[in-house]
Amino acid sequence: MTTVPFVLVALPVPLRTLFHYLAPVPLPAPGTRVSVTFGGRQLVGIVIAGTDQCDFDTNKIKPLDNVIDSQPLISGQLLKFIRWAANYYHAPLGEALQAALPAALRQGDAAQYKADTGTQLWELTEEGRGLPAGALGRARQQASIIKQLQQHGACRWAELKNAGCSREALRALSEKKLIRPTSNLAAPFNAQSPLNLNPEQQAALGAIAPHGFGVYLLDGTTGSGKTEVYLQAIAQALAANPQAQALVLVPEIGLTPQTLARFRHRFGPSVCAVHSGLNDTERLNSWVRAAEGDARIIIGTRSAIFTPMANPALIIIDEEHDGSFKQQDGFRYSARDLAAVRARMLNIPLILGSATPSLEVLQNAHDGRYRHLRLTQRATANQATPIEVINSQPAAEQHGITSEALTALAQHTGAGNQALVFLNRRGFAPVLQCRDCGHQLSCPHCDARLTLHRSPYHLHCHHCDYQRPPAKHCESCQGHRLEPLGAGTERSEEYLNQVFPDTPVIRIDRDSTRNKGALDALINKVHEGEPCILVGTQMLAKGHHFPKVTLVIILDVDSGLFSADFRGPERMGQLITQVAGRAGRADQPGQVLLQSQHGDHPLLQLLLNQGYGQFAQALLDERALTLMPPSAFLVLLRADAPNPAAAMQFLQQARLLAESIQTDQQVQILGPMPALMEKRGQRFRYLLQFKALNRRTLNAYAGKLITLIDAQKTARTIRWSIDIDPQEMG
Ligand code: ADP
Ligand code: ZN
Repeated sequence: MTTVPFVLVALPVPLRTLFHYLAPVPLPAPGTRVSVTFGGRQLVGIVIAGTDQCDFDTNKIKPLDNVIDSQPLISGQLLKFIRWAANYYHAPLGEALQAALPAALRQGDAAQYKADTGTQLWELTEEGRGLPAGALGRARQQASIIKQLQQHGACRWAELKNAGCSREALRALSEKKLIRPTSNLAAPFNAQSPLNLNPEQQAALGAIAPHGFGVYLLDGTTGSGKTEVYLQAIAQALAANPQAQALVLVPEIGLTPQTLARFRHRFGPSVCAVHSGLNDTERLNSWVRAAEGDARIIIGTRSAIFTPMANPALIIIDEEHDGSFKQQDGFRYSARDLAAVRARMLNIPLILGSATPSLEVLQNAHDGRYRHLRLTQRATANQATPIEVINSQPAAEQHGITSEALTALAQHTGAGNQALVFLNRRGFAPVLQCRDCGHQLSCPHCDARLTLHRSPYHLHCHHCDYQRPPAKHCESCQGHRLEPLGAGTERSEEYLNQVFPDTPVIRIDRDSTRNKGALDALINKVHEGEPCILVGTQMLAKGHHFPKVTLVIILDVDSGLFSADFRGPERMGQLITQVAGRAGRADQPGQVLLQSQHGDHPLLQLLLNQGYGQFAQALLDERALTLMPPSAFLVLLRADAPNPAAAMQFLQQARLLAESIQTDQQVQILGPMPALMEKRGQRFRYLLQFKALNRRTLNAYAGKLITLIDAQKTARTIRWSIDIDPQEMG
């Protein structure tokens, strides 16, 4: 064994470098956690490699304080993937590793099951279930835990503890693999058998090669049975190898108890969820279950893309177009794009499912890099409903809802059905305006108007969270005729309550669901099936299945047509299609009404008459003409500061550096320019945009530029960031 003098450690600090420490003997393997002293603090770092190179004064290199793991925590495979990601997004490796690990492991806890939280559910493993009586001999505590779990199916740690069980007994059983923690959104397992696939589903499933790398776009209308295809693709993988593991990523608001239940019903306790409702201990336990291979199906949101797996066989991304797969701060990665990289490294298939595929993914499908699989028919009796337009004029609208829409609401609820009114704006009114001078109340910290809320009554900035009581007088002319303009969900709710006093109006948005359990309570009320009107934001667009909803009314999506962000129309088309897909999912036919002031806009007409596929094609053609993604690649360099000149100067300097490394004008530089919202949270925000036709050229260029910027003094005084393949242009 050769010995090297130094070990390179990744630390959770915002510096794009690794840190030298004196190498212990034996050298810990890459992926091992160590604790070190850094700038007077104790930090947990990850060993990346040994080295004999060091440009610093080697007398000042400190030893490691402690080697935490006897085995590497992060496997070579996973470490390679995370390094690839950090490299591609130009993020410090230490920060990328931090994003990839649950908090308990970041802090140095052992990578084993833990019981220190009362809410953690424990259940028997297959071996535990088959344990013959008396097998535990004189270990009475252990036997009593087994007995309790046999009686109750699963128990929370608090219940076991109250019954006199000790932590040691629990640990002993989990080390013997007789029990394991389970995710506490557990739904009952009733061994639901697979459905008979229709011919389209069958063709799609048949096209997915169970082994080897391949990316499949499952482009299927809402309700076409994509989820059933996922379930059977997983079943295929498990049939080929009972130890196989599948990773399923869903959008943040798509990880509902209903979604989990579908997987639990089919696959039982081997399904493990990683969601934001878990506490640190529960997250650690999920991580260990996945790493040890005990969790066969791991369902999670964005960061679950970094889940360790002992026997990875398949990755699935549901609703791949969803914005929540992109991390918008810190380590700005796209879990969807990384999924393709991870699948390639692991040599396994990746399924990207959506009713409204992103233009990036569609382009890959057109170019033949991804296999395009289509489900054009709904799996149930009812076909998707065409969307009818109601042309609305601002003056003709009563509180944002036209009389045609009200008539339809009366008809559907009168017939005993439920209706959904979609409005992507919470609060009462987006603007409070003075009738005398026209002044609108705005946020003192942002370039944004304050939203009026009624419950509780206050003004709120949705960008920086600034709040204040509503003014009695206009700040500008002292007049006292202040008038709310436009409608948010609160106002629609109030108005619909007036018009339909006998029909419950249920509002579902971030405000009405803030308290724990509130969303479940509202959803349960809808599932009781009585006629009602649901009013809500995006939260209603995904994951929930409302069989009694026959009418969907979409209010005010026009802003997407005139958005300053080039992705505005794409997002609008996706939103309309997804929301419309909520209508008539069960045995009743549906009706969809889109209320618009620009009903004859060519893009809207294209979407409504030709469908999302043709609409997306038109947008792709336009992006090809204007050389925007996916026909070109973008990188944003953002900077913000309390002083606008400081941020601007920093970017001007960065532009000079950028020009100095230009070769052959392969990269187009735009800016510095103000962000879409120049002032936000008392900071002034600017950006430089880089564009190139070649992804690799641009990425290498960005890497060079960052090295130059990092070497500048101002790089440490200004807040700046790099965003590779940005999703938001603000
Ligand atoms: P998607 O994921 O495409 O929105 P789902 O998988 O949720 O569609 O399917 C919509 C509905 O159709 C569900 O209620 C599902 O149980 C049902 N379904 C799916 N596939 C079939 C099938 N082959 N036969 C009968 N019903 C099906
Ligand atoms: Zn603000």
